[in-house]
Amino acid sequence: MTNTHAVVIAGAGPTGLMLAAELALARVDVALVERRENQELTGTRAGGLHARSLEVLDQRGVVDRFIAQGKVMQVTGFAMIPLDISDFPTRHGYGLALAQNHIERLLAAWVEELAVPVYRGRSVNELTQDEAGVNVTLSVGSSLRARYLVGCDGGRSVIRKQAGIGFEGWDASVTYLIAEASMAEEPAWGARPNERGMNGLGKLDDKLEHGKRVRIVLVEPQVMRGDEPTLADLRQALVAVYGKDFGVHDVTWLSRFSDMARQAEAYRRGRILLAGDAAHVHSPAGGQGLNTGLQDAVNLGWKLAQVVHRTSPETLLDTYHAERHPVAARVLKNTLAQTALARGDDRTRALHERMSELLALPEPRKLYAGMMSGLDLHYDLGAGHPLLGRRMPDLDVVTEGGVRRVFGLLHAGRPVLLNLGDPDRIDIAPWTERVRWVNGTFDGSWELPVLGAVPAPTAVLIRPDGYVAWVGEGADDGLEAALVRWFGGGPGRDAAQSSP
Ligand SMILES: Cc1cc2nc3c(=O)[nH]c(=O)nc-3n(C[C@H](O)[C@H](O)[C@H](O)COP(=O)(O)OP(=O)(O)OC[C@H]3O[C@@H](n4cnc5c(N)ncnc54)[C@H](O)[C@@H]3O)c2cc1C
Repeated sequence: MTNTHAVVIAGAGPTGLMLAAELALARVDVALVERRENQELTGTRAGGLHARSLEVLDQRGVVDRFIAQGKVMQVTGFAMIPLDISDFPTRHGYGLALAQNHIERLLAAWVEELAVPVYRGRSVNELTQDEAGVNVTLSVGSSLRARYLVGCDGGRSVIRKQAGIGFEGWDASVTYLIAEASMAEEPAWGARPNERGMNGLGKLDDKLEHGKRVRIVLVEPQVMRGDEPTLADLRQALVAVYGKDFGVHDVTWLSRFSDMARQAEAYRRGRILLAGDAAHVHSPAGGQGLNTGLQDAVNLGWKLAQVVHRTSPETLLDTYHAERHPVAARVLKNTLAQTALARGDDRTRALHERMSELLALPEPRKLYAGMMSGLDLHYDLGAGHPLLGRRMPDLDVVTEGGVRRVFGLLHAGRPVLLNLGDPDRIDIAPWTERVRWVNGTFDGSWELPVLGAVPAPTAVLIRPDGYVAWVGEGADDGLEAALVRWFGGGPGRDAAQSSP
């Protein structure tokens, strides 16, 4: 039997779930295929969300669900050098400590509310694409047909491999074991660097009543290949670092990760797209993988929806690669640098100390904090006002209906033309079905993270992902071109007439 959908997403990890929500909000017929039978993730991977991810969830009206379950704190850092972002101009001048399984659970609940079908307990095994769509063969023998297929199926992505998309980068220079286990003896709690990297033994959820439950992160004595580490590997690595294995037993989760850094050479091949770990893998240094994947999804979702609805041409999808590939390329480079700085030999420690001094200065701190929190993101949309291509600040705008938060205007995932000047100067009549028009005033100062104060615009065109697509400075020069570029031609013009 073959079910058909406009979009099929392979993988219901954080990226796939976020993308499914974005597409469902845009009323796209989307389905998820997930290999796991149950949503619950075994073990812990990501430990939280950075400020820009919190903003992105705030733009959809769901951030409070996450904040209620996590712990608000300063989590931003570079090479374990803390970077305080509490002075950044954002409502979320912090990060959120929240384990990946909870993040996934909350995303899955949202996706369920949005009535997205999930084909669980089956994997995408094979795919073929033709002019009109993609055929997807599942492990259980059935198949799906979709106009577009998005691979959100993690670092070993079958979709990426089957689409023949290269995955170039750097091999691992170090491998780590990560485990959740019990220990017969009281271990040496806390971080312990050695010349290969950082080791750590932490109390697991503080639940020590059933013995000493420990979260273990260990550098392996040599670079290991393969994903299936054994208890013997764990014991050997404990002895290599601590001189004993503390009677480790009852291992409920054991996995291996590395500083391998690779990126897909193309985020799109025809009707197949990649997002999240399927498009980029790197070390967990700085906690950026899940966050980058969420934001890939938010960049892609509205664009794919418009192409599916035929309001924009397929070429709009090329802007997804153009905007998001450089973002992950920068993440890869910063993880390579952080891995180098994590080595515990005297020379590297001296370098780390100098870096810490540097990052304590105001300007370097802001620069790195902007990068690591995702708040400094700037898509290259051409020359112009500093807001162009940057995140729209969450201002309190005074409208006829009262004070409105800008992020509140984005909850439905639709573009917004926020007019803050003379309402008669701007006319978006042909786009009013697609673009929400809001008149208002804002008398405060315009501040961007890292950049600081910028001149107040008279209008801004805000994309559904919260980035500024056009800035009015007293007139509507360039507005029509921006509307066509991002939201398709006005009625009476088909999608092919508008090109990004
Ligand atoms: C130790 C560790 C710590 C980390 N810490 C952080 C952190 O602090 N912050 C951070 O942002 N990131 C962190 N990360 C990275 C983060 O875990 C990943 O970047 C994130 O899980 C990527 O999400 P994803 O949805 O793209 O891929 P995944 O989470 O890998 O999800 C892919 C999904 O696809 C499914 N799947 C796979 N193949 C198929 C198939 N063929 N068909 C159907 N389904 C399939 C899988 O079952 C899975 O559910 C850490 C990673 C590790 C290992």
